[in-house]
Amino acid sequence: MTLQNYDVVVIGAGPAGYVAAIRCAQLGLKTACVDEWINEAGRPSLGGTCLNVGCIPSKALLDSSHFYHRLTHQAVEHGIKVTQASIDIAAMQRRKTKIVSTLTKGIEGLFKKNKVERLLGTGSLAGNGQVTITPDEEGAVYTVQAKQIIIATGSYPLSISQAPIDGTHVVDSSGALTFDEVPRRLGVIGAGVIGLELGSVWNRLGAEVIVLEALDNFLPAVDQTLAKEALQNFQKQGLKIQLGSMLTSTKVTEVGVEVDYQTTAGTRHIEVDKLIVAVGRVPYTEGLGAKEIGLKLDGRGYIQVDEHWRTNLEGVFAIGDVIGGPMLAHKGSEEGIAVAEVIGGQAGHVNYETIPWVIYTWPEIAWVGKTSQYLSSEGIDYRVGSFPFMASGRARNMGETNGRVKIIADVKTDRVLGVHVFGPTASELIAEAVLAMECDASAEDLARTVHAHPTLAEAMHEAALAVDGRAIHI
Ligand code: FAD
Ligand code: AMP
Repeated sequence: MTLQNYDVVVIGAGPAGYVAAIRCAQLGLKTACVDEWINEAGRPSLGGTCLNVGCIPSKALLDSSHFYHRLTHQAVEHGIKVTQASIDIAAMQRRKTKIVSTLTKGIEGLFKKNKVERLLGTGSLAGNGQVTITPDEEGAVYTVQAKQIIIATGSYPLSISQAPIDGTHVVDSSGALTFDEVPRRLGVIGAGVIGLELGSVWNRLGAEVIVLEALDNFLPAVDQTLAKEALQNFQKQGLKIQLGSMLTSTKVTEVGVEVDYQTTAGTRHIEVDKLIVAVGRVPYTEGLGAKEIGLKLDGRGYIQVDEHWRTNLEGVFAIGDVIGGPMLAHKGSEEGIAVAEVIGGQAGHVNYETIPWVIYTWPEIAWVGKTSQYLSSEGIDYRVGSFPFMASGRARNMGETNGRVKIIADVKTDRVLGVHVFGPTASELIAEAVLAMECDASAEDLARTVHAHPTLAEAMHEAALAVDGRAIHI
């Protein structure tokens, strides 16, 4: 039997896989993308974790809850009286679902426009460039032939034996996006990016939130000046973040969850209505036939690749969460573009030194490049310029004066080594810093760049001036 032939078959249609597929098609390669995702409604849905249960739905709820919080807490200082603001969680969830559905259907449209063939089901490596597709629904298993294969199968939430997910009382990040009411008391295990974002959503909507974090320091990957400021701010908002608290056991009762955890002061016990387990994510290679075909994984289950995303198997590449590194949608998408270009005979490249990170709390935390603690530990001499939003006219207008911009530059060359923002719309502000670092800019370049007034971006300008001790407004 002749098999359907493709130049490229992509396995997984998350932000890494679907972007890779579109770029391959743009480059004139005959491309198919196979995906097994089935959404809440029981239908196949493109976009992977990010669009279905990650970036998009979490930000939809963060935006709704932020809106509510502003109405109930900040409107009054603008002279706006809001009486009887109330929450309709069902409506909030419908809005979220609609956004997700519009965007996932949008990828279907992009596939059609770019002539990427969509295959439904689980793809597994069958050797010699073949991929076997097992359809989600009834239907015969079939095999396709590809000159090149790109694996982009992503990741899934890590589970821990101390807190088995029951989907009702103890949930993972996906479950935490579908609550149908605001829990009175909510426990979160893990004060990482996902735990803080989900904790923020329900805290703003009125839940009493306690976050248990095993480590003693808060957000170790974040510049510690900003992390400390953020911790204080979040505690003030009512997020009870308890560091040095290692979950030891949970027990689901008729009314909620009993949680035991260990601190240096001894064992502690709390009772919550719901518990979110957000202790990290692990690479997803089940169903791929990795072991049978001899695909090389590292000790933690990530697919091993070289600098051009080649696995140990001829003609098989891997990108996105499944290869490790920052588990971020945009990192996977950039790899998707780059690997397509490598396959298409171009010079695909990803600059891993300038990948922005964002934590969508409010204020947001965003950064690119190196932290002070890293540079100090490496013995690299640097200068720091810092500017608080307190001194920004625009931030004052907005009533958003918490946080700061911190720019770190090399002492000798003045090259920007890292930019850290804790503040309003930090996720947007960081883009300028990413571009600056991508272009190897110096702090002086940023300082000599004209920034519109009054804008939050002026804080970036002032922090750059402050590197050289010449900030104007502080
Ligand atoms: P995934 O998105 O996981 O997609 C993999 C796809 O492959 C899935 O559709 C899966 O069903 C499919 N698949 C797997 N195996 C097979 C197989 N054998 N055959 C066929 N299909 C298969 N990142 C950000 O950058 N910004 C954010 O704001 C952000 N927020 C997040 C919030 C939450 C709650 C979570 C959980 C994650 C968030 N992330 C965020 C992380 C982001 O979602 C991931 O980094 C991103 O989705 C990884 O993309 P990927 O394409 O590698 O994998
Ligand atoms: P991230 O790696 O950003 O997803 O964050 C996950 C967080 O969960 C990390 O900060 C871990 O230290 C934390 N964590 C992991 N296991 C536990 C546990 N058993 N109890 C409390 N915190 C944990």
